[in-house]
Amino acid sequence: MKKRIAIFGSTGSIGTQALDVVAANPDKFEVEILTARSNDKLLVQQAKKFHPNAVVIVDESRYTAVKDALSSTHVKVFGGEKALDEVAAFDTYDMMLAAIVGFAGLKSTLTAIESGKAIALANKETLVVAGDIVMQKAVEKRVPVIPVDSEHSAIFQCLLGETRNKIEKVILTASGGPFLGKKPNFLVNVKKEHALQHPNWSMGAKISVDSASLMNKGLEMIEARWLFNLQPEQIQVIVHPESIIHSMVQFEDGSIKAQMGLPDMKLPIQYALAFPHRIPNTLPRYDFTRSAGLHFEQPDIKTFRNLALAGEALHRAGNMPCILNAANEIAVYGFLRNRIGFLDMMEIVERTMDKISFIQHPSLEEYFESDAAARNFAASLIHI
Ligand code: NAD
Ligand code: MG
Repeated sequence: MKKRIAIFGSTGSIGTQALDVVAANPDKFEVEILTARSNDKLLVQQAKKFHPNAVVIVDESRYTAVKDALSSTHVKVFGGEKALDEVAAFDTYDMMLAAIVGFAGLKSTLTAIESGKAIALANKETLVVAGDIVMQKAVEKRVPVIPVDSEHSAIFQCLLGETRNKIEKVILTASGGPFLGKKPNFLVNVKKEHALQHPNWSMGAKISVDSASLMNKGLEMIEARWLFNLQPEQIQVIVHPESIIHSMVQFEDGSIKAQMGLPDMKLPIQYALAFPHRIPNTLPRYDFTRSAGLHFEQPDIKTFRNLALAGEALHRAGNMPCILNAANEIAVYGFLRNRIGFLDMMEIVERTMDKISFIQHPSLEEYFESDAAARNFAASLIHI
């Protein structure tokens, strides 16, 4: 039996790599749903190649183009944001790969959980914003949430067979991004072209900027808190520029397990899609005898304040991570459009966290309200 996969965000960096994994394993997977925000041409190409049951193009102005291009096929075409939710509730697929970027991925992922679908989770913002509600719903519905984020995939793999053993801490590794070792006098002048040049990974624009500002690692601390039910004190971030150790778990006896490999997102993607099985691939292998060494250092949270702000949000909990995330999405948007500088992003996140009312135990509706309030305030700071 083939696993039927719904790829939400199929035209992105994760989505396209997931389709490569599917193409390499036609006996194991078939594509049931593909969704894209605005890249109609790529969505059509993907639909013609993978023959899904349905596609969604969120940008309604492109609906007719997609519909016309697929008129000679059996693919059902949907348009608009609401359609994401509708198709997420379909009972024709087994697993959703949640690969939409940002808060926009939350609703459809919740709908998939609600309708009992396994989740391969790339969209970390879903857990940052409403991790308590999402994970509780997953437990209620007995839905597995398999992380795609490489660090969390590593931790997930280290924890297999350890269900009865207490975790002392998890050690999240960070590459440090393109600006490792740089100070504010340098960062004040960097532009998006620099921030988008990640040394080890090729990713979508938003997460590339997040990696450069260390917000990505901050979001990942919060993601880890929910995925593995950790206390904030159990999460340590360490810079490891080679990105060979994808993360580690330290147990009560001091023993540390690590998951390693060359950095390639296809690996955690195929692991999540195929779980609980490992499937062969031809990706290059890491060779210890050619290694120039593995290095580790403390993150510079004074310069990269985003990591400290995310740590604060993690500790304060409630709607604070949601506020942090919303402010960051706006800040990254502003930076990518050359409206603000690199360091302004951290300023915007901090000011928004100070401004928006704190709620200790928000409902889902209150998360949506906090997100909107934080976005509006952050946008007012950069006049967009
Ligand atoms: P991307 O920008 O390359 O792709 C995003 C996808 O989401 C596209 O298909 C786009 O059409 C869709 N999309 C964007 N905005 C949308 C909206 N408002 N509504 C509906 N669809 C929308 O992003 P990516 O790098 O593939 O990242 C996707 C998610 O995976 C992010 O949450 C990111 O943090 C996470 N992630 C990515 C990587 C990576 O290597 N790229 C690694 C770990 C985690
Ligand atoms: Mg990651």
